[in-house]
Amino acid sequence: MGIKKAPENVPVWVDEKRCKGCDVCVSLCPSGVLGMIKDEHRILGKIISVVHPESCIGCRECELHCPDFAIFVADKEEFKFAKVSKESQERAAKIKENKFMAI
Ligand code: SF4
Ligand code: SF4
Repeated sequence: MGIKKAPENVPVWVDEKRCKGCDVCVSLCPSGVLGMIKDEHRILGKIISVVHPESCIGCRECELHCPDFAIFVADKEEFKFAKVSKESQERAAKIKENKFMAI
């Protein structure tokens, strides 16, 4: 069973058991919320981390495209998401330049 129920006051959360570290969600996040961190116990040596939750705009690109159904986004009725900002867009670009590793 995944953790589909939203933890309180959290915009985006992960079922770490399911994440295989493929980078897809990081590549699609427009707001620099997500990044990979090293984890030697994983097949690909990394796992997703929600590094800047305060910047999540609730677009659900991560949730819709995760091949392993490992990442979830709160409902718009239940969480007040951020608006996209120049700073968050620039961070997203830097994370992509950094091979999807968190910065
Ligand atoms: S898309 Fe899913 S499996 Fe891939 S890194 Fe993100 S949460 Fe993990
Ligand atoms: S919902 Fe959108 S902004 Fe929030 S983490 Fe997922 S892709 Fe990024």
